[in-house]
Amino acid sequence: MLISNRIKNLNPYVPGEQPKDRVYIKLNANENPYPPSPAVQKAVMDFVKAHPEKMGLYPDPDSLELHAAIADMLNKSGGVLCRASTEGGQVQPAAEDKIPFTVTPDMIYTGNGSDEVLSFVFYAFFDSSRRFVMPQFTYSFYPVYAGFYNIPMDQVPLKEDWTLDTEEMLKRAEKNQGGIIFANPNAPTGLGLTRDQVREMIKKASEDEIFIVDEAYVDFGGESCIPLLAEFKNLVIVRTFSKSLCGAGQRLGYIVANPELVNIVTTVKNSVNHFPIDALAQVSGTAACRDLPYYVETSRKVAEEREKFYNFLKDKGFYVLKSQTNFLFARHPDLPGDQLYQKVKQQGLLIRHFATKGIEDFVRITIGTAEQMAELRRAFEEIL
Ligand code: PMP
Repeated sequence: MLISNRIKNLNPYVPGEQPKDRVYIKLNANENPYPPSPAVQKAVMDFVKAHPEKMGLYPDPDSLELHAAIADMLNKSGGVLCRASTEGGQVQPAAEDKIPFTVTPDMIYTGNGSDEVLSFVFYAFFDSSRRFVMPQFTYSFYPVYAGFYNIPMDQVPLKEDWTLDTEEMLKRAEKNQGGIIFANPNAPTGLGLTRDQVREMIKKASEDEIFIVDEAYVDFGGESCIPLLAEFKNLVIVRTFSKSLCGAGQRLGYIVANPELVNIVTTVKNSVNHFPIDALAQVSGTAACRDLPYYVETSRKVAEEREKFYNFLKDKGFYVLKSQTNFLFARHPDLPGDQLYQKVKQQGLLIRHFATKGIEDFVRITIGTAEQMAELRRAFEEIL
């Protein structure tokens, strides 16, 4: 046998498809349809042109400039871009999103996409005696980490209205003595808990239980739990540049947490790879954080298109969940999800179908530009 025993039970994540047989309009991986801001494009070109020698050197191991830029972005926006305003070019958070303390760079850890960040978080906080609880339907990578690190998991069914059953999750967490992870807003449902609901949950739990809140989609209309870091030492917020910051190709994710927890995740990372994200991701990420008005605008455009498409789906007779994200989760009464997905694909558009029991009738539709959504409407009109 050439391979280790560990490999036998691995069940890797399956990302949204990227077929090469023709050009598709991609609405299947919750990417942002807009490119990174012109300031990001310029920063990358300038870096390569002005400092080609830096491409031959190792990057800053502490990503100091980037971490300062992320902290600054969070302080300015309150962490929810589509509700922030851009008066006089300055970004102002909505009153309810203001963070009641200053996020500092030592509260930030960055990694190669939030998938990698999550992997280190799982390694840092869970093991066979610190099991974790998660909703039955949530980001489907969490069970993959459980398999990879051999961590027993406890999946709690969603309530009938597809929201999280926070009481049951708390009960199970008490028994499992590890912690709770969920995406907020959740995927693939698009529904979120309010900050007050999360606060109530953490208050009721033991301080030895860790809460991991994955805010990949929060910028499109959720409530960020970053303000709760002032109240709780057992909270880790995971975020990404892949959605609202138009940077899925950049592979940049981060956590916001108290510095002690940031140090723990850094220790895990330094035991696998002693360098951080690459120099170009540091440069492009820093430039993105410094051009917030652009991303406030693109996030708002996505949220507007989402509301339009929500109404369209309702008019077409779909059961559709009210989303706080850049996607919609919907079910047609007569056309099963896999058939709808196939028919849409024949029309040159990709949406996502999960062949998972309980959600197999649904499709998940990423929100694109106005033009892309018009194409999808045209395809739906033809099919239905
Ligand atoms: N969390 C959630 C809930 C997601 O849907 C995704 C994207 N599929 C990620 C994390 C990972 O994003 P990335 O690795 O691109 O940062």
